[in-house]
Amino acid sequence: MGRNTEQQIDGEAFVLPAAMIAGATFCAAESEVCSRICNAATGETIGWQEHATAEMVDRAVHAAHDALIAWRHTTPAARGKLLRKIAELLEADRARLSAMQMQVSGKPPFEADLDVSDAIATFSYYAGLCEDASVFAAEPVALPDDALLAERMHEPVGVAALIVPWNFPMVTTAWKLAPALAAGCTVVIKPSELTSPTEHMLAAIVSEAGVPDGVVNVVNGGGEVGAWLTTHPLVDKISFTGSTASGRKVMQAAAHDMKRLTLELGGKSALIVREDADVVQAVSLAVGGAFANAGQMCSATARILVHDNVYRKFMAAFETAVRAVVVVPPQGAEGADAAMGPLISAAQHARVAALVEAGVEAGAQIAFTGQLDPACADGFFMAPVVIAEPAADNMLWTDEIFGPVACVKSFRSDDEAIALANDTRYGLVATVVTNDEKAARRYKVQLRAGLVWVNTPQLIFPQVCWGGFGLSGIGRELGVAGLRSYQELRHTVGMRA
Ligand code: NAD
Repeated sequence: MGRNTEQQIDGEAFVLPAAMIAGATFCAAESEVCSRICNAATGETIGWQEHATAEMVDRAVHAAHDALIAWRHTTPAARGKLLRKIAELLEADRARLSAMQMQVSGKPPFEADLDVSDAIATFSYYAGLCEDASVFAAEPVALPDDALLAERMHEPVGVAALIVPWNFPMVTTAWKLAPALAAGCTVVIKPSELTSPTEHMLAAIVSEAGVPDGVVNVVNGGGEVGAWLTTHPLVDKISFTGSTASGRKVMQAAAHDMKRLTLELGGKSALIVREDADVVQAVSLAVGGAFANAGQMCSATARILVHDNVYRKFMAAFETAVRAVVVVPPQGAEGADAAMGPLISAAQHARVAALVEAGVEAGAQIAFTGQLDPACADGFFMAPVVIAEPAADNMLWTDEIFGPVACVKSFRSDDEAIALANDTRYGLVATVVTNDEKAARRYKVQLRAGLVWVNTPQLIFPQVCWGGFGLSGIGRELGVAGLRSYQELRHTVGMRA
């Protein structure tokens, strides 16, 4: 297929320009890299994406730097108005955005729609913070000497590079973009090379809302383009979501200029089913925690710990539920009933399949699997896989798989469950299923994770911070802390007038 430099997201096939800088699109020369964008549910090519050159990345960062002077001095109320407008435009475009999530990632309709709702809620929340003058006002700091007055202020960090992965493209971008804009930062977004159409749609909406040119810029490409951003001397802050391996490289790149850094990385989280749990509820939470988004979630609770006394009952009900998970393409005849979509790419499919093979070769036992509809044949689908009682050093138990693979292990006491759950270098989330309030309190305190859910699905609210311990990253997104991560703290001390 030849290149068509016109962006036609609704058309038959499209070519995304290499960059959107200060309101203008930039196309790559024929000789530059251009990668395929697939429909993960059918394997078909739906479009192409030109990759930005180093010169374009430099131009995008300069555009953000130039726009910063005016943008940082807008009032929070004015920025809030624009964020509110973005939320409204996202709502008005819900059907098209959701269709794009389905078309690229193959997500079931309810998951695609949930992504749009999450992005809307995030922009609305940060609009609300901007409307609350106290969040941005200078705060008095009590001093031992009454003659002196100290104040604490929050300043925008500056130019932020926002680098996102492919599993929740619109969502991870909203979690960065909304607080960055609220804080008064300007940005360059680097979407994943597999799912960039969503970010281009979002950038068009931001522009339509009236955000000035240069405040939000987009550069396409892979790790190389991301690396050019992380080493650019005019980038003040990097907010990166992706694998722990890439996160390490980003951290090293940031060190040179002491760039401010937020890292949202991998996970290998636990779901704990106590003896007193409602097993029906536990199974439903286990299916959602392990197989939502086909397990391609940093927060996947792929290590399921079940009390010995309810283990057999749980496994029987879990098997029935997993076999009933409807895995079909979202666009097909039964698409509306889809409960699980495909993996994002042929490479990701091969990676997950190879990990399962290696885990089984090392001794892990597959207890049961889900089923694939024949309509899945051309896409990158994989049936859910459940492993029973893996060894503590089996890679399926220890490593992030990022696919529909869950391990179940039994335990005999809360001490053992907490020790097993915490026996990981990650620490993103955890879920506990119990009807005992006292036990729940203990788990909330002793689980080493950034977010612990008790008897609920993985509910995410923009008011509640996201981020983890250990190899799961550094810093927090969402909430007021998410805003503060795009601000520098400044204090003043002077004589009281
Ligand atoms: P990845 O690390 O391969 O890529 C993430 C992004 O970083 C992409 O845009 C990629 O092009 C870019 N990139 C890669 N190398 C880079 C470098 N050296 N410098 C700058 N940018 C670089 O990850 P992925 O495969 O796209 O996503 C899956 C990973 O993301 C999983 O490990 C998952 O746990 C993690 N993730 C974490 C969260 C969270 O909130 N903690 C959320 C979603 C995904």
